[in-house]
Amino acid sequence: MLRNRVYYRVKPFIPQFLRTALRRRLALRVRDRIANIWPIMPGSERPPEDWPGWPDGKKFALVLTHDVEGAAGLRKCRRLMRLEMELGFRSSFNFIPEGSYRVPRELREELSRNGFEVGIHDLKHDGRLFASRREFRRRAVRINSYLRDWNAVGFRSGFMLHELDWLHELDIQYDTSTFDTDPFEPQPEGRYTIFPFWVAARELESGRRHSDLASDLGPPATGNARSGYVELPYTLPQDSTLFLLLRERTADIWLRKLDWIAEHGGMALVNIHPDYVGFDSTNGSNNNYPAARIYEFLNYVAKKFGDAFWNPSCSELSSWYAAVQRRATQWPLRTDGVSRGRAATAAKAVLAGRRAAVLLYSYYPADPRPRRAAEALVEAGMHVDLICLRGKATEKTREVIRGVHIVRLPLRKRRHNKRTYFLQYATFIGACFGLLGARSLKKRYDLVHIHNMPDVLVFGALIPKLLGARIVLDLHDPMPELMMSIYNLGAEERLVEWLKRLEKRSISFANLVLTPNKAFQQLFISRGCPPGKIEIIMNSPESEIFNSKYRALSPDAANGGRPFKMMYHGLIAERHGLDTALEAVAQLRPAIPELEFHIFGDRTAYMDKIEALVRQLGLDGDVHYHGYQPQTEIAKSIRSIDLGVIPNRRNPFTEINMPTRIFEYLAMGKPVVVPNTRGIRDYFGRNSALFFEPGDPRSLGDAILQVYRNPQKVDAVLEQGRSVYEAHRWEIHRERLLNLIGDLMSDVGRAQS
Ligand SMILES: [Zn+2]
Repeated sequence: MLRNRVYYRVKPFIPQFLRTALRRRLALRVRDRIANIWPIMPGSERPPEDWPGWPDGKKFALVLTHDVEGAAGLRKCRRLMRLEMELGFRSSFNFIPEGSYRVPRELREELSRNGFEVGIHDLKHDGRLFASRREFRRRAVRINSYLRDWNAVGFRSGFMLHELDWLHELDIQYDTSTFDTDPFEPQPEGRYTIFPFWVAARELESGRRHSDLASDLGPPATGNARSGYVELPYTLPQDSTLFLLLRERTADIWLRKLDWIAEHGGMALVNIHPDYVGFDSTNGSNNNYPAARIYEFLNYVAKKFGDAFWNPSCSELSSWYAAVQRRATQWPLRTDGVSRGRAATAAKAVLAGRRAAVLLYSYYPADPRPRRAAEALVEAGMHVDLICLRGKATEKTREVIRGVHIVRLPLRKRRHNKRTYFLQYATFIGACFGLLGARSLKKRYDLVHIHNMPDVLVFGALIPKLLGARIVLDLHDPMPELMMSIYNLGAEERLVEWLKRLEKRSISFANLVLTPNKAFQQLFISRGCPPGKIEIIMNSPESEIFNSKYRALSPDAANGGRPFKMMYHGLIAERHGLDTALEAVAQLRPAIPELEFHIFGDRTAYMDKIEALVRQLGLDGDVHYHGYQPQTEIAKSIRSIDLGVIPNRRNPFTEINMPTRIFEYLAMGKPVVVPNTRGIRDYFGRNSALFFEPGDPRSLGDAILQVYRNPQKVDAVLEQGRSVYEAHRWEIHRERLLNLIGDLMSDVGRAQS
């Protein structure tokens, strides 16, 4: 450390060009000496004990991070963000709170809105953060206040200096100031691992073993963020080392190391400084290198590995890993393969005999997501009371279905206007509040599971919460975006602002938030939901209904002369783009004369417009409308078609939604054409889905034509798509749900005992 201290003291007095020249000379000398430990440190590919493997069966993880060093870097953030989005990647941007530039709030918000993460890079970036314990402590207070202000959970120090033990003073979920091997850094000790690891806080009171790098100790089971943090070492050389210091002319070192990490199933984490990226230069200079290197790298990964890798933000990765660790210590069982079932058994042991209430402003059992969750709780041995609406007079007010005790309130959803919505919501929440309150006084609930909309239904559980129940808020859809999409409202509209505030309050009332996809999760986080509090439970189709017993008939319509059948099923509304689909069908008629389009869905006012459009386009004989059909009938129909379409238009809601219908087609072995939107791209890549540009009939037509003409190629895409579905089957998410609730309940147990 002495060498460092001297270096950083004199550094400001050495001119930049001399500093660069010196470092370069030194680097070239070092490089010869270190060939056997850099860029690959043998042994670092060994996974930690009990390594569960990456989520969803992914082969390896690729994590992109950016440290923004100065104003030049700040100016290039948006361009770098767009470059990555274009290639289908997401990353974390780390800003210096008190450095040479100010970070505009708009930039941070724009990054989060697009699914990027914002983290904190040092405080002043002057090399003095760890100068003394006292100095660090002083600065930690400031860093924590920026973490709160920016809603950030991650940290990286300047110059990769690190004292992992001190970092417990920061309110962080992860740190990324270390590396597997990097002898070019001023504090050059590597961690010699290409995997994340847990850094446990010292446990002063308990008198348990002290350790500053206690991955062997594991976190205490409280799930408290302060019990430790996840360390994410970077494992690919920094861009500055490769291109500025060593003057590499290709991204080759990155590619080779990445291949090696992929082969061993590790974590490839890279730090790319926007400051040094030359977007408009082809040769590079002393302080920047061509952006082509980044293209070369990302294109290589995308092409070679397709959907086989996970590209999380640091916060996603660390919250996943913290949960893995928590579970491992709580129930010392592995979460992989065979033993995964045992973890669920352990969760069941926690849940059995407990009491849960479910609130649902919808119909039961018609709504599939609440039904599956409630049935999972019953199967885990819980007593479940459920309060919902009474749709038809023929439905009973009280009933037990598959062990779920249902109370139906005499209210029906009416889609009139915003005022009616509001009144109905208020009535229902009031009724739930009263009913749950009265029941809680007789016998306490351990858990209340609330399904939105509305978000504020969560407050119907106030009394059980005061009496100790844990609150799970299941955000099926983000209300602000859904309302914007239904009523065509702008983001600045008062109602939308108001819904966002209510959403935030509702989230902070809950102990755990569930949502069905990554884009929704990121959206809620960008609006202030703590990343550690929200988890994904996907809407996977029911495998008893949608399954591949019905193997696809190879789409050979081109030579068979039989009809080429395309299908749509779901809500018939403008945002779902049936008009785009009809225009595509009209354009395709000359190319596919035997094309038929089958539409399934309850009749809505919008259907009249669709029927008018069918006549106008002269498609009367080609389009068949079947009205509402139950799921079993939908599954039968899927069996007989060649292709499904999700013709959604683009709007704030459809952009981030991930329609379950995609999985329904894939589960039954049928290709499906999907819109190129973020919510879907989070799960599918070019190799696993057939994309079209939303709102563009020509692009949709091209995708359909591809299925018609190129069955072999489409089969390969279908195969990949099915493996995405397989990784998200309901059985997997069901177990995840039970584990999460098991975590929550065992905390209660501890608090009460
Ligand atoms: Zn830096």
